[in-house]
Amino acid sequence: MSDCVFCKIAQGEIPSNKVYEDSQVVAFHDLDPQAPVHVLLIPKEHIASALEITPENSVVVAHIFEVAAKLAGELGLQNGFRIVNNCGKDGMQSVQHLHFHLLGKQQMGWPPF
Ligand code: 5GP
Repeated sequence: MSDCVFCKIAQGEIPSNKVYEDSQVVAFHDLDPQAPVHVLLIPKEHIASALEITPENSVVVAHIFEVAAKLAGELGLQNGFRIVNNCGKDGMQSVQHLHFHLLGKQQMGWPPF
């Protein structure tokens, strides 16, 4: 999508601090980190939110979780981590392109609200 900031990051039109890229997925450091490690994983394909995951496009979601596990190892998250997807207004999604937050290097709390 032409006005989507994460599409622009995926296409290299907006700079980002990338930690991983392949034909389907990009991962990069969040601009406003909420933990010592805070990486965003996105599909290159524009999928607006978790509500738009379908049988036709869901393979990339499984791939994102594979990449997240690989990155967790590389980024020193052997003690654990959290993967978050914010969806829609109640979920406080602020960028309308599917993304998963990989957060770690600190003790998390629960519940998250
Ligand atoms: P959401 O609130 O939609 O779950 O998360 C969006 C995330 O994207 C936020 O954590 C925000 O800091 C991050 N973000 C928004 N714009 C940019 C950007 O241009 N570059 C990077 N690296 N992160 C961004």
